[in-house]
Amino acid sequence: MKLILLGPPGAGKGTQCKRIVDRYGLAHLSSGDILRAERAADSELGRKAQHYMDTGGLVPDDLIIDMMIGAIKRASGAGYVLDGFPRTVAQAEGLDEALNKAGETISAVVSLKVPDEAILDRMTGRRSCPKCGAVYHVVNLKPATEGQCDNGCGPLVQRKDDTPEVVSNRLKTYHEQTAAVLGYYQKRQASILQIDANQPIDAVTNAVFKALEGLDV
Ligand code: ADP
Ligand code: AMP
Repeated sequence: MKLILLGPPGAGKGTQCKRIVDRYGLAHLSSGDILRAERAADSELGRKAQHYMDTGGLVPDDLIIDMMIGAIKRASGAGYVLDGFPRTVAQAEGLDEALNKAGETISAVVSLKVPDEAILDRMTGRRSCPKCGAVYHVVNLKPATEGQCDNGCGPLVQRKDDTPEVVSNRLKTYHEQTAAVLGYYQKRQASILQIDANQPIDAVTNAVFKALEGLDV
């Protein structure tokens, strides 16, 4: 199974991806996670991405396409879920080109729908583990011990780009550049699973699993 998860920042893509990959044994390819790892390693790519990430813009398409096509090739054989990529129509075209060359196709696009009003609370309440990448929320998904990762990694952190000002830029970026990606897949008659993600986390997971069960893969 090869899936793409689409939705605004804070829609719950990472949260639902984790559950999908656990259930179906897929690789989780998150462009945001890969970029954060590049930054932690102080690589050239990480340094180039820094400013865009901290201000809520998008890292240039050519860098992202190369990075994600590389990750997809390394995951080849296993199925995968793409999380946070493609985020522009140019990235979707770059992905299509690479998949065509490899004779592969995407099984389905999972589109998580959440109104903007719900996003700010989700993102400012998000807490992340800098070591294992686990994601929590101060109200909606609390760790067992406040401020500590359940996997024994130590303290949780708030992402620098989860402040109200950067969140508002990220939402603007989403509407200006990313929302059109769904239309791109609709035009190509991809199998699109529309999910109401404005409900509790477990209810969203149930809706996603039910939609995936109906897929002919
Ligand atoms: P994304 O990967 O789309 O940016 P995340 O999965 O990191 O989003 O979720 C953003 C924040 O919102 C996290 O703190 C997460 O715990 C919380 N969250 C995710 N899904 C829901 C939901 N359905 N209802 C309430 N909070 C949610
Ligand atoms: P995320 O973890 O998905 O919220 O991504 C964090 C930040 O990384 C985004 O705000 C962007 O600056 C950058 N980023 C992640 N994925 C992409 C992408 N596909 N294209 C461009 N920039 C990206």
